[in-house]
Amino acid sequence: MAELKLSESKDLTRIERIGAHSHIRGLGLDSTLEPRLVSEGLVGQLPGRKAAGVILQMIKDGKIAGRGVLIAGQPGTGKTAIAMGLAKSLGHETPFAMLSGSEIFSLEMSKTEALMQAFRRAIGVRIKEEAEVIEGEVVEVQFDRPSASGVASKTGKLTLKTTDMETVYDLGTKMIEAITKEKVQSGDVIAIDKASGKITKLGRSFSRSRDYDAMGPHTKFVHCPDGELQKRKEVVHCVSLHEIDVINSRTQGFLALFTGDTGEIRAEVREQIDTKVAEWREEGKAEIVPGVLFIDEVHMLDVECFSFLNRALENEMAPILVVATNRGHTRIRGTNYKSPHGMPIDLLDRLLIICTQPYTEEEIRKILDIRCEEEDVEMAEDAKALLTKIAAETSLRYSINLINSSALACQKRKGKAVEMEDVSRVYQLFLDVKRSTQYLMEYQNQYMF
Ligand code: ATP
Repeated sequence: MAELKLSESKDLTRIERIGAHSHIRGLGLDSTLEPRLVSEGLVGQLPGRKAAGVILQMIKDGKIAGRGVLIAGQPGTGKTAIAMGLAKSLGHETPFAMLSGSEIFSLEMSKTEALMQAFRRAIGVRIKEEAEVIEGEVVEVQFDRPSASGVASKTGKLTLKTTDMETVYDLGTKMIEAITKEKVQSGDVIAIDKASGKITKLGRSFSRSRDYDAMGPHTKFVHCPDGELQKRKEVVHCVSLHEIDVINSRTQGFLALFTGDTGEIRAEVREQIDTKVAEWREEGKAEIVPGVLFIDEVHMLDVECFSFLNRALENEMAPILVVATNRGHTRIRGTNYKSPHGMPIDLLDRLLIICTQPYTEEEIRKILDIRCEEEDVEMAEDAKALLTKIAAETSLRYSINLINSSALACQKRKGKAVEMEDVSRVYQLFLDVKRSTQYLMEYQNQYMF
């Protein structure tokens, strides 16, 4: 059976924790790809979700690579939410990388290097390896030098019996750790991966049936496998091209993967890796898995970045590019030209465009319901109605932000559920954009210029 490792590229989505989109678990589609009204944390926005579902299917079928999708719509209409839903529906095997347009200007590297890293984070390489696995019944485990705690020691021996022979293995530290962790003892049937030293407990042997009572009814009993002593097993690792780059970049080293502080990666390193991966592909040892790169606030990119994107999409390994913006007709950064969404027409022309629509009050109410549940906040019905009204007049995001603060206000007065008074209290405490702008206009002359 193939073993899959989760791609680190998914880390970007994990940063969200109980963040703005943590209630979203998928696109909420049925088996025919039709969106359900409320499902997997998503509410309404049906045409957009349906379109995203079609893209999802095309990605899963491996039909598209190097394509682009633009999600355009007013602020707070769920563009990021739909992209998150898409990411969740892709499953762990497909890499998903995300960045916000403005981020590329704040990193300690050039804009195009930041984009290149994001692209390569969204390209997975599925590497197949043949591993030698031995399965057998443990006759005896013996540690040479028990430590003070009585378990771990530096060396030891494991006697393993397959159908017709017993073999004694010298144990390395890794194997000893595995044996103590798995609590391996005589009578267990185990599988040892010779390369990694990984030990998997398969069950107890029938030949030690006297153990049956002692082990209890939940123990799995298996026949000691007969046949070959050594089995070959296919192990599959899924990593992103970016991870391979970082590991092979002598200036950075693999620890940079954990700190995220990768710096710039030299073009030669990438070229070598591309050649190596191409060789593996030819030998049938690896496959490319184009994932998804999501760039939010895409209007923050400038004309150089847009031409980079145009070129990068031509590459045969390119991931699916999903970009989002809430801008209408505006200036393309770095030029004096105005264009729809602040993006060059030639790039726009190659994108499939999904539009999001403003929500009805009923839909807002449902989203707030879901958020209350997600944040574990109990709220009275009239308080929810007030919050819905506030969302319609200000913004959905502002209203969502008030859930947690009203819960704190409720907690302070030792209330059980959030009431209207808690919501109106925090509404007065925290200004929305409209009131803040109004305040600013009134007191403009008291601010610094
Ligand atoms: P902006 O243009 O300002 O970036 P956006 O269109 O990306 O806005 P989101 O950030 O997706 O908007 O939505 C704002 C909040 O509302 C988020 O917490 C999001 O998860 C939630 N939300 C938006 N639409 C939906 C929806 N259809 N179902 C459930 N939650 C939603």
